[in-house]
Amino acid sequence: MSVLVFLEHHGNELQKGSLGVLSKAASLGDPEVAAVLVGAGVRALAAEAGAFGAKRVYVAEDASLDPPTPQPRVDVLAQAVAHGGYDTILLANSVLAADVAAGLAARLEAGLNWDLVDLERRDGELVGTRPALQDSVYVEVGWTSQQRIALFRAGSFDAAATGGGEPELVELAPELEEHSRGAKVVDQQLEASSGPSIEDADVIVAGGRGLGGPEHFTLAEELAKALGGAVGATRAVVDAGWYPYSAQIGQTGKTVSPKLYVALGISGAIQHKVGMQSSNVIVAINKDPNAPIFEFSDLGVVGDLHEIVPKLTELVRQRRAS
Ligand SMILES: Cc1cc2nc3c(=O)[nH]c(=O)nc-3n(C[C@H](O)[C@H](O)[C@H](O)COP(=O)(O)OP(=O)(O)OC[C@H]3O[C@@H](n4cnc5c(N)ncnc54)[C@H](O)[C@@H]3O)c2cc1C
Repeated sequence: MSVLVFLEHHGNELQKGSLGVLSKAASLGDPEVAAVLVGAGVRALAAEAGAFGAKRVYVAEDASLDPPTPQPRVDVLAQAVAHGGYDTILLANSVLAADVAAGLAARLEAGLNWDLVDLERRDGELVGTRPALQDSVYVEVGWTSQQRIALFRAGSFDAAATGGGEPELVELAPELEEHSRGAKVVDQQLEASSGPSIEDADVIVAGGRGLGGPEHFTLAEELAKALGGAVGATRAVVDAGWYPYSAQIGQTGKTVSPKLYVALGISGAIQHKVGMQSSNVIVAINKDPNAPIFEFSDLGVVGDLHEIVPKLTELVRQRRAS
């Protein structure tokens, strides 16, 4: 088995999900795990990739590749695969990575298993774990193709530095297919935010309709700030225009698995549950003792969030300050 990991970066930061997948790859027993970086200024990120387990880093340093379009990345990954003879390519899910994985699977005629939450080596074979039936069961999946591609659900693995040293750098001069130059990014909107993104946050405070109105989202924001976390939302409040779509967690939103998930005024509908149930610790505050969210919470507080949350935030602030 020889493993190649696609590393996504935003600005000059490697995406935490990609580093988690790289850490996982390094633990699978391939002593020569490699990674691929594509875009402008990515050479500077290679050392960090080494610290998270990459022994070799392919660098396609090219400003024209900076716009996050998938096809040029498919070309570069295919070049790296041809160079190193990799049979296993791993990616952390994102809007970009999902397109890259699909394009690469078609290019290499490789099998693609997506939405995996784990991967292990068993008797020389790779076995993936994938939630199914609305996340109510886990199934094991494998590959029959010669080359294997796996796309992992966000937050599946902790990004753990392996203590590896400087990786070998392999510069790739990108050889792009004609059709890969077809799509142009004409505009990019960056949403101003402070603190960690919900994909990367260790703590998420999510608000639902129980907050009572968009103006009460400050309760979630203040608690998230005190805990050093990010704010999430249910679809009900996003649809109502109370909070941006980018914060939506669930079946048609983002899948997250922070260390701590605090649900404020969220009923716990199955479509929300599937996006957050793999969080390490779930705390729910809801005034309805029969709310479904209590069925899968580690700690449930029955009460009015408008009374509880300000006091909780104050307590967290005091505890952090002392
Ligand atoms: C195809 C499809 C896809 C969907 N995708 C998603 C998705 O991705 N993400 C998602 O979240 N939903 C999704 N939904 C919607 C989902 O079914 C629920 O409608 C939604 O999650 C409910 O949001 P909520 O918990 O904020 O609101 P509600 O279900 O209205 O719950 C509000 C909760 O707040 C509590 N509450 C009220 N006042 C207080 C108070 N003062 N203090 C404490 N608690 C209080 C209530 O007891 C209640 O439990 C989807 C639905 C469909 C059909």
